[in-house]
Amino acid sequence: MFAKSVAALALIGTALTGCAANSGTQSAATAKFEPIAKACEGRDGWGDPAPPAHVYANVYMVGTCGIVSLLITTPQGHFLIDGAIPEAATEIAQNIRDLGFDPKDVRYLLNSHEHFDHSGGLAGLKRITGAKMVARAEAKDALESGTVHPLDPQRGLFDPVEGVKVDQIIRDGETLKIGNQVLTAIASPGHSPGGTSWRWQSCNNGKCLNIVFADSLSAVSADDYHFSDHPEYIAPLRATISKIASFETCDILITPHPSQSGFFERLNGDEPLIDATSCSQYAAGSLARLENRLAKEAAK
Ligand SMILES: [Zn+2]
Repeated sequence: MFAKSVAALALIGTALTGCAANSGTQSAATAKFEPIAKACEGRDGWGDPAPPAHVYANVYMVGTCGIVSLLITTPQGHFLIDGAIPEAATEIAQNIRDLGFDPKDVRYLLNSHEHFDHSGGLAGLKRITGAKMVARAEAKDALESGTVHPLDPQRGLFDPVEGVKVDQIIRDGETLKIGNQVLTAIASPGHSPGGTSWRWQSCNNGKCLNIVFADSLSAVSADDYHFSDHPEYIAPLRATISKIASFETCDILITPHPSQSGFFERLNGDEPLIDATSCSQYAAGSLARLENRLAKEAAK
């Protein structure tokens, strides 16, 4: 059923009745959507509209062609991870409606990291949904001010956006629960100081998979920033990469940018959607790019 998102969507009704604990408050729409890989072909802009796509069981991609926003549904309300750019908030809400869910049933807004391409839409989504914004303490000031953390390597690269009030602080390893659905926060500092990954299990017809929304692990910075000058910043990035690499139960990897993990290709069936090695592969690629960056800085 993972071969094509259209095929997957056609099976949504079956999937949800087979896993009552994880089903939505409404039955998902029976409407078929153009496969997201095709709809976004040649378009990867952060605000380029994308159709919604079914990922697995109660998990749906509702973001744009360039940015993942993830809906995890339960009969008692939903989680929404990431809001893309400010202009995308209404697109994301419409995707939720197009799936047959009510944005007002979103109870928790979560974030991967406090850069505007993933957090800029959260203020608008909070207005639309009325949901509670939950974040790690390290991300709070940046999210609320619409800027970045003072230690962020990308400081100075972004114009401020509308901030979103953080209603609840979550720490590494703590969980959030709606009904029977439990999400665990994984502190993932490195790409940004407040980076957070999320992991949970979603079940379809009794088949439960471990899903990881792993934060960006890339060492990206303003032009005048050298990671090698900041060993205190490199250390947590390395620790986060090691942590993600150690997730042996990582059946489905999802990343903030679809391209970071070939997400649309995997939703399209070009690559396997379910691959227990996906977290370790993602971490290995990120570590190689970090070492490459450090080597380049040393050569200067
Ligand atoms: Zn970022």
